Amino acid sequence: MNVPSSRYFNQFNAIFMRIAFFSFRNYEKPFYEFGKTVCHFFSNTLNYETRNLALGAEIISCFVNDKLDARLLKVLAQSGLKLIALRCAGFNNVDLIAAKELDIQIVRVPAYSPFAVAEHAVALLLCLNRKIHKAYNRVRKNNFSIEGLTGFDLHNSKVGVIGTGKIGQAFCRIMLGFGAEVIAFDPYPNSELQKSGVQYFELEKVLSDSKIISLHLPLIESTRHIINKNSLAKMQNGVLLINTSRGGLVDTKAVIKALKSGKVGALALDVYEEEEGIFFVDHSEDMVRDDDLNRLMTFHNVLITSHQAFLTNEALFNIAQATIKSITAFQQGKELINAV
Ligand code: NAD
Repeated sequence: MNVPSSRYFNQFNAIFMRIAFFSFRNYEKPFYEFGKTVCHFFSNTLNYETRNLALGAEIISCFVNDKLDARLLKVLAQSGLKLIALRCAGFNNVDLIAAKELDIQIVRVPAYSPFAVAEHAVALLLCLNRKIHKAYNRVRKNNFSIEGLTGFDLHNSKVGVIGTGKIGQAFCRIMLGFGAEVIAFDPYPNSELQKSGVQYFELEKVLSDSKIISLHLPLIESTRHIINKNSLAKMQNGVLLINTSRGGLVDTKAVIKALKSGKVGALALDVYEEEEGIFFVDHSEDMVRDDDLNRLMTFHNVLITSHQAFLTNEALFNIAQATIKSITAFQQGKELINAV
């Protein structure tokens, strides 16, 4: 696969601006050409406590768990910050009102590979339903019993999709390929999906009729805890719930109760409400002090991945390209097509 050429970075040099990347990981390195560049690459998360690393930068590039609140933005604006280039689609971690008031522009990567995230949601679904996580551990211990590993056919199963934007759409199409009956809720139904066989209903009906529910909507104030005590009560007993979108969509304490009662039969999470400071970090030598996360990990029917749904070569390549193009356009005073 081609990686972005160093000429983008030469352009960074041509117009001197200090650029700092945060939450930058080893897996991103092949997609950026370091060369002779004025960029600084920090693996640290950016938040008010780590603000000194960003002082003097006119451009910063951030990821999902960098906390760009009003307090931090004010300090960084005073030290010259002009552009935030998010290397992700979501922007719920940025105080947009404060950024506007401080004249800080924001760009994001609206679509880098909806397939990466949709396919990961399907991987979690198949693993949980067919109990691959248990089978893997059993076989490695020479336990070849298949007792307790019964799943169900996705063919003819009713799959509810909440949010049918880019990722939801890709997920729906994969489910249609399995021969599942796909029903969906989105305030803006997609006519192409309808032609392909997806049926739209009110949220309550999607919640109550689905054997599997997958969330593919943004986290905004009105969608925070959309999965809560009341919405869980409407679901079928034993529902398989998947969240690859944003942790805040699910009320963790309510879902733990629903797991204990059997209302939720299986739960797949790639995102977690309190993931900041936990996900993306190796905590194997210390302790995770989050009681809800620790409780979730005790259930055999809960599968958690650490916000890796986007992590494919294709997605990383597209993220790097879009980020570099946005920064270059900003430096050259051109229109920012991915502005938030
Ligand atoms: P998108 O903007 O293309 O689609 C979102 C859809 O949600 C839109 O169709 C919108 O109409 C719909 N929507 C808005 N409010 C809704 C509501 N109350 N109920 C139902 N639908 C509603 O976004 P996308 O690119 O498909 O991303 C979907 C989610 O995936 C976002 O939360 C994003 O942050 C998350 N995401 C996660 C990862 C990961 O690695 N886990 C990677 C990328 C994106």
